[in-house]
Amino acid sequence: MMKNETAQGNNRAALAFILSFVKRHIPAVAAGVFLLMGVDLVQLIIPRIVQRTFDVLGNATFSSELIMRNAAFILTLAFGMVVLRFFWRFFIMGTARRIEKEVREEMFNHLQGLDFSYFNRTRTGHLMALMVNDVNAIRMAAGPSFLAITDALFMGTLSLVFLLSINVRLTLFAVLPLPCIIFMIAKYGPLIQTRFKAVQESFASISARTQEAFSGIRVVKGYVQEEHEIGEFEQKCEDYVQKNLRLIKIWGVFFPAVTLFASLSMAILYLVGGRSVILGDLSFGEFVSFSMYLGLLIWPVIAIGWVFMIFQRGIASSKRILELMQAEPDVTDRREATEGNEGVPSGVVDSEGVLSDMELGAGSISIRNLNFSYDGEVKVLQGINLEIPAGSSLGIMGKPGSGKSTLVSLLFRLFPIHEGEVRVDGRDIHELPLSKLRRSIGYVPQDPFLFSDSIRNNIAFGVDEEKQDLDRVRHYAEMTALFDDVMEFKDGFDTLVGERGVTLSGGQKQRVSIARALFIKPRILILDDALSSVDARAERKVLQNIRREMAGRTVIFISHRVSTVMECDSIVVLEGGKIAEQGSHRELLKRDGYYSRLFELQRIEGKLPE
Ligand code: ADP
Repeated sequence: MMKNETAQGNNRAALAFILSFVKRHIPAVAAGVFLLMGVDLVQLIIPRIVQRTFDVLGNATFSSELIMRNAAFILTLAFGMVVLRFFWRFFIMGTARRIEKEVREEMFNHLQGLDFSYFNRTRTGHLMALMVNDVNAIRMAAGPSFLAITDALFMGTLSLVFLLSINVRLTLFAVLPLPCIIFMIAKYGPLIQTRFKAVQESFASISARTQEAFSGIRVVKGYVQEEHEIGEFEQKCEDYVQKNLRLIKIWGVFFPAVTLFASLSMAILYLVGGRSVILGDLSFGEFVSFSMYLGLLIWPVIAIGWVFMIFQRGIASSKRILELMQAEPDVTDRREATEGNEGVPSGVVDSEGVLSDMELGAGSISIRNLNFSYDGEVKVLQGINLEIPAGSSLGIMGKPGSGKSTLVSLLFRLFPIHEGEVRVDGRDIHELPLSKLRRSIGYVPQDPFLFSDSIRNNIAFGVDEEKQDLDRVRHYAEMTALFDDVMEFKDGFDTLVGERGVTLSGGQKQRVSIARALFIKPRILILDDALSSVDARAERKVLQNIRREMAGRTVIFISHRVSTVMECDSIVVLEGGKIAEQGSHRELLKRDGYYSRLFELQRIEGKLPE
């Protein structure tokens, strides 16, 4: 009972969601429906004229002039219908496209606001399917359904009225098979839906496979797995054909059956109506127009079923989209964070993409009793206490999985903090507007991500091309030892990277990513193993430049290389989420710990500067 009620509530919410978009376009939809009714009316008038023409055939009032006049009238009506049809399509289908755009945009906006953890647990393929298939289903329910509803109600009722006005008895006989069409739709509709869904899922699986096979092409080729990939792909394509065949089979029964019942209706008309004509109860003209109205009635009957189908689909999609729209970010601004900042948009950035609000200081960080877990069970960080004075540098080392990335990601609240305290420039990070906090931190992740865009747009990320100061872009490219590499490309900083352009090496990608972080002049710069693919010589140069550039501001280096962190003011070693060692390079060398052992190892391997 309860379950039923919530399901109904969900249905209602899903319908309300669709209607909330339709509401914004009532004038256009109303205009479309109005014009459509015009088309229907014209269609209903034509049989009348035909009837009159047939009825005068062969009797005294017959004249070729009358025939010509009627023919001209029908032609005029047909032309009027062309105009009306153009405009109803324009209004109804056009509005449906607008609604599609609005739903998609709202979803995208909402997604942009969600946390990292949401994307952690949601597959990209799922989001793509929502953005494409489900939005499409909403479009159908918000546009073409108006066509079907109008036709079903208006055209259906009126053609029935016309039929009855010609002959009640004949109408009752002729419409007898029509409920069978509704029955067919009710019976086969859900089956068609299920099979159609299977086809769509199979297609989604092909596109996901294609995407993976080609984004992972290096791995595929490296492991000589081309044959295996081809085999898997063939299987998926075969599955798609099979799923389609299942759908074709059901359409193959459905369509002819509908035609059969429609023909049955006609057959009854010929039997019963033909007799009436012979007996003189029905005029020849009436017989002809009756058969035309009967023809007009078939589509509205099908439309009733069709409306059900697209509404069901629309509601199902709307529910899935609502689920997404109701997902809330765990990390949000607290009230104190925005209080006192009213009128001042948080995270004000100047035209060069730099945080212009100087309220924050030079980036001191204080972490007290910080515990953290992703799932509420496994402790990833335990009892972290760390003071990082403004303008200093910190190196973080530790085995993979020891919690290094987690620790730095908490500084800009990528995940919600439940236990412990993190302060930046003396203020609890929860008291700072999220955008301001994040804008003041330049973060370079382990796996650099570049957009399929020019190198300059990747460095000056988020700054419009016209507003970019190319000298600044160049400056940071020099800082990250990228300038010479870029100059080797024909288009220099306008060179496109990724799918449509050059493929950068791992080290080049990392350096673009560092330049991007430096570009926003962050108070705190965090490099999460971001020099791992950069060769030793370039690394030394980049490190020197970063130190010079970030003088007076705070820098955190996560690395597996002693060479990256050895010159830091302080170094910590994490072990199983706890701080195991802490001190300067010299202090840590004196201890027989992870750091000194790693130092020795890398020295022997010749990986340390003289
Ligand atoms: P490190 O950077 O030192 O390699 P991480 O901070 O990435 O370590 O990971 C610490 C632990 O947290 C690991 O056991 C890892 O599996 C887990 N972990 C990391 N990121 C996530 C995440 N997004 N969701 C759940 N667990 C995670």
